[in-house]
Amino acid sequence: MGETVSSKPDSHGPVKDAAQGVRARTAVQRMVDVVLGTHPSLRSRVMLGLLPVVLYVVWIVTHLFSVHMGYMSADVAKFAIGHHIIGILVFYPLVRSGYSARFQDSGLIQAQIMWAASVAIFIYSVNAPLRVAIMQLLCMIHLFGLFTLRPRQLLFTGGSTILMLLVMLAVMLHLKPANFIVDQEIFKILFACFIIGLLTWMSILHSLARGNLSKKKKELAQAVAQVNELVTRDALTGLYNRKHMQELLERERIRQAHTGQPFCVALIDLDHFKHVNDSYGHQVGDEVLCSFAKTAELTLRETDTIARWGGEEFLVLMPETTLEPYAQVAIDRMRNMVRELAPSATVPTLRFSFSAGLAAHIDGHTADQSIARADHALYAAKHAGRNCTMLATAANNPDSACAA
Ligand code: GH3
Ligand code: MG
Ligand code: MG
Repeated sequence: MGETVSSKPDSHGPVKDAAQGVRARTAVQRMVDVVLGTHPSLRSRVMLGLLPVVLYVVWIVTHLFSVHMGYMSADVAKFAIGHHIIGILVFYPLVRSGYSARFQDSGLIQAQIMWAASVAIFIYSVNAPLRVAIMQLLCMIHLFGLFTLRPRQLLFTGGSTILMLLVMLAVMLHLKPANFIVDQEIFKILFACFIIGLLTWMSILHSLARGNLSKKKKELAQAVAQVNELVTRDALTGLYNRKHMQELLERERIRQAHTGQPFCVALIDLDHFKHVNDSYGHQVGDEVLCSFAKTAELTLRETDTIARWGGEEFLVLMPETTLEPYAQVAIDRMRNMVRELAPSATVPTLRFSFSAGLAAHIDGHTADQSIARADHALYAAKHAGRNCTMLATAANNPDSACAA
């Protein structure tokens, strides 16, 4: 009986566990965010910067152990540990705070390599039992540059380390301390110089390949932007094309369905445009189209969008706008500007006008339905004598609003 009671699942158990799991996970995530930051590029910089911190901690333990075992004097250990603590306290905060982002080497990798290599070489000179490990460490330190540094920085770090090793060798040859077996040390140090030189060379090749790759990536991004431009823009006027405007309309329709914010469309058609072509030639007709496009863009609000709908027809999308008075006022402002235009230098007396059909989008309608209502109103504007705007009513009967 007791067993039955104790084994009975708590109906809130799994829910509670899941909730606690989510809380625990988010607490861990929050802690990780504090340590690494949240911005992706900062995060990758800090993660790379935390590896030296791990190395420093391991080395602090190693020094303490060496002192305990009698491999290292307490003074040398104090110096080395002090150096490692400075490394931890200076570099990580500079990178984590984002301060180092102002430098080209934003992870301060070059400075960290030089800082770590100098103390490693010093410890090599004074601590015989750690020499093999130090050589491995020197190579490891230079690997950090492989992923981030530029060829010139790599040349500097690799060259400086080799120089420090050779200076250290010269000093040791001069001082001839105990535990310094000259032949063996010359071989070991020269071999280390060779390996670091090789590592530097490989890193430079890697850095050049990385540079090439990022250049290609940039070129590809530019090409994609150009293709995007070609796909969405009209070649003659530079305005958005019909296809792109259809996407914008659909987006606006969905937004309107969610937010209830009104929007209007205006279908604009240049008046007697065929006459312009027939009288002055296609070239002048093109100049009229371009001149209209430029002026229309200038007169509209930044949030409004105009596209070439086809031929001498244009469609204006006016988000967060009611038909009367705002949309109508905007189109009439455009009309007044257009009437003043002298679109062609070859025919300075040429003037032109347009007719427009305006429709407010009705909730639940498709974008095509709204355009059809605007088209209906445009048709009425043409019939009313052109150079005027007609408003589409909900019943699809255009209101007479001729401005001619
Ligand atoms: P309405 O006032 O009734 O609109 O008369 P309209 O002459 O403007 O209209 P119609 O449809 O008769 O003529 C439109 C002309 O626009 C015919 C076509 O050749 C010309 N057109 C279409 N696209 C271009 C273009 O890219 N450049 C030039 N120059 N003309 C174009
Ligand atoms: Mg037309
Ligand atoms: Mg026309």
